[in-house]
Parts: sequence; C-alpha cells; structure tokens
Amino acid sequence: DTAMYAAKRGGRGRYRVYTPELDTRARDAELRHAVADGQLLLHYQPAVDLRGDVIVAVEALVRWNHPERGLLMPGAFIDLAEETGAIVPLGEWVLREACRQAARWRTEVPAAAGIYLNVNLSPLQVKQSGLVEIVTGILAETGFPADRLVLELTERIVLEPDEATLDRLHALCELGVRIAVDDFGTGHAAINYLRRLPVSLLKLDRSYVAGIDDDPRAYAVAAAVAGLGAAFGMHVVAEGVETPAQAGRLLEMGCRYGQGYLYHRPQPGDELTALLTRAELLVAP
Ligand code: C2E
Ligand code: MG
Ligand code: MG
Ligand code: MG
Repeated sequence: DTAMYAAKRGGRGRYRVYTPELDTRARDAELRHAVADGQLLLHYQPAVDLRGDVIVAVEALVRWNHPERGLLMPGAFIDLAEETGAIVPLGEWVLREACRQAARWRTEVPAAAGIYLNVNLSPLQVKQSGLVEIVTGILAETGFPADRLVLELTERIVLEPDEATLDRLHALCELGVRIAVDDFGTGHAAINYLRRLPVSLLKLDRSYVAGIDDDPRAYAVAAAVAGLGAAFGMHVVAEGVETPAQAGRLLEMGCRYGQGYLYHRPQPGDELTALLTRAELLVAP
C-alpha cells in the first residue's frame, strides 16, 4: 500500500527511488501540510449512561480528507504523526477545533450544556512543556469551560510519568480539566500509578467488551476494572459496546457508562448538532 502510494506520488511515469526514510519524510511533510491546509476534520462519538442511554459525553475523533486517497481513519496516520512529531500541531488543531465546535453546541443547544467533551492526547503532547499554556489558551479563545473538558491519555503515559508530566497533569486538574485513561487494560498500566495521577475516568478497552459474553477471562478483566473504578472513585466507560447483551453485562458488573455502535457511531459535527437537539437523548445539565 505504501509502495503504491509512493509510486503514485512520483507521478506521471517519473521514476524515483524511495527509501523508507525518504518515504517517512515525504509522508510527514504531506501530513503537516494537511493540518495547515485544512484537510483534517473531526467526527464526534457520544458516550452514554447505560441506565437510560442518555448522552453524557462526546469524543472527538480525527479524520483526514486526503485529496487522492479519500477519507482516512486515524489508524492510517496517527502512528506516523507520533513518530515524526507532526502529532503536536495536529493535536493542537484537534483540541482547538473540538472546543470551538463544543462551545457552539453549548450556545445552539442550551440543553446540551451538561455534556463533556473528550479529546485524545498523544504521549508526545503530554510530554510537551507548553501543554498547560496551550490548553489554557484554547479554552480562553473558544470560551469552552475547563470543567467540561476531558483529556484522554494512553496507558503508556500513566505507566511511566516523569515528574514534569505529573506536574503538568496536576496543573490541568487545577484548571478543572479531567483526565481519562484510554484503552484501559491493554497497556499493563501499573495500578499503583493510578493513585498518583489525577485520573477521573477509565475507558475499558473494547477488546474486553467484545469478549464479555463468551470469554470468562475478558469478563473477569472487565469486572476487575469496574471494581477498580469504584474503589478509586473513577468513572468507567466501556468502549466498543455493540450489543444489548454486552450493555446488560456491563451494568450488572457496575460499569455505568458506554460508548459504541449500539448507541451512536462517530459522525460529523452538524449531524451531532441535530442529535443533540433531541432533548430526550441528553443528560440533565
Ligand atoms: P480511541 O480513542 O480508543 O477511540 C475509539 C475508537 O473505537 C474509534 O476509532 C471509534 O470509531 C471506534 N469505535 C467506537 N465504537 C465502536 C464499536 O462499537 N465497535 C468498534 N469496532 N469500534 C468502535 P477511530 O476513530 O478509528 O480512532 C482510533 C484511535 O485513533 C482512537 O482510539 C485514538 O486512540 C486515535 N485517535 C483518534 N483521534 C485522535 C486524535 O485527535 N489525537 C490522537 N492523539 N489520537 C486520536
Ligand atoms: Mg479515546
Ligand atoms: Mg479508547
Ligand atoms: Mg480503544
């Protein structure tokens, strides 16, 4: 796929030799250009309270509307962005755009004021010394309230946070921003670290949700995470809920929140605006 892509980029029968490094550099340049050129967009996926299915949060998920390859999912470019550092400008764009959209929802749909906005942060962003200033600036600029913003971190950060990173996370918390651990259960996070970190949300990885019906071990891990959340006073959101049976099992083990195709797919901002105007779907502000 990459080889074909590289050949195509060479264009009109011109012949070029692509080394992997050159390919990485070319793709990095293309991605940075895409950020600056407005080729990125966000889709939004609601998370619901499993008791009653009302929307409690909306997660921003980035897509790349590539001029030749069409709509690309994050799996096609996030790893490269993380590797080259392009994730830093990309992530800043995502945060600004998501806060802008969510602030607009708050004015257009007052009943949606109780909803949280979740934004994914890459490890590189969290290690950035200016992160707190960037977040503060974007909140001020968009008018989105800090106490409705949830930043989703991967377990990798939780596992080995340096002191400066810990300080940064605590500073974000002081602003009122909440921290979530994404894909929880996949990265072997040392549970001990959870006590040191200002985490208010665990997102149970969808691999456990997928196995919850017929794999006793997946069920056991899911139940353990639900128990951990209860013990540490953290909310637990199950990812990738696709069947009513899974939702039932999650509720019975004490996992109160879920996100998945059973409820809502990720969708463009204007489609979500329409969804949010249906008051019966909303959590009380
Ligand atoms: P994630 O943060 O764990 O997001 C959940 C992913 O699961 C999304 O994939 C979503 O579309 C998918 N999903 C939701 N419900 C279901 C379901 O019921 N079944 C299945 N099979 N999948 C479901 P997506 O949009 O392809 O994003 C993949 C990952 O890319 C995200 O995983 C996140 O780690 C990363 N990502 C997305 N946007 C950003 C971003 O702005 N910044 C960073 N750093 N990473 C991002
Ligand atoms: Mg996420
Ligand atoms: Mg996740
Ligand atoms: Mg996941």
